Amino acid sequence: MLDKVKAHYPNAVSSSDFILNVYKGLSDYGLSPDRILLAHSICSDDVNNIEYPMEGRQMLGPFNLGGLNGYPFTGITGMTAFAHHVPEEGAALIFYAPHIGINAEGDTGKILRVGQNHDSTCCGATILALNRLKNDEIISGQKPADDYQQHSLQEFLFNQKDRVLNSSDSVKEATDIIYEESGSMIDHMIRSTDFTGKHIFVVGAVIINTNWQYGSFVTLRRFEEWDVVSRKKVKDLYF
Ligand SMILES: [Zn+2]
Repeated sequence: MLDKVKAHYPNAVSSSDFILNVYKGLSDYGLSPDRILLAHSICSDDVNNIEYPMEGRQMLGPFNLGGLNGYPFTGITGMTAFAHHVPEEGAALIFYAPHIGINAEGDTGKILRVGQNHDSTCCGATILALNRLKNDEIISGQKPADDYQQHSLQEFLFNQKDRVLNSSDSVKEATDIIYEESGSMIDHMIRSTDFTGKHIFVVGAVIINTNWQYGSFVTLRRFEEWDVVSRKKVKDLYF
């Protein structure tokens, strides 16, 4: 399965290895996982819980910032609550990642789930938004209270309609757009918030779910330290 994943995302590793790589990247800071409070912004989809790596559970948290396809819908209030819970001698780790399914055939946008006989869409919200975009069903500015998150994702794609529809893989392109929108909002939320603790780390990635037998993979896009006081980026970190 990894070869099918790497055909789309060459740097992807298993979710477990991804977390271990993050810990390795933080090794200079002398932080044990129980001094790191994790906020994650990932899709509500059950597959992300079913396949959540045990290694990630060693940190405190997670505080859930995310809604549909991992966009940080909790906004500044969510980030502020999280930021006030960070251990005084510890760190905040803010992880955001949209997700995308890749099935056994290597097709994007779908996976076979536990106990099911047929593939289903993944990320379902993104595929729905894409289909509505292709069918000209998105009305800009319409965000009803009873389906606010879905309509927000649709607006992101609507605003970059040509980019999505002219791409060779519209599912990957839509995922990239949601990654970019999430990152912009995460940065804004951090800048708007006072943090306790000694360090802030920001990790941006894409989660790749596959058929249930094969688990999930993650490809890193961004790994940074930010200053707690100025809330500006200090430096890039690497695995
Ligand atoms: Zn999803």
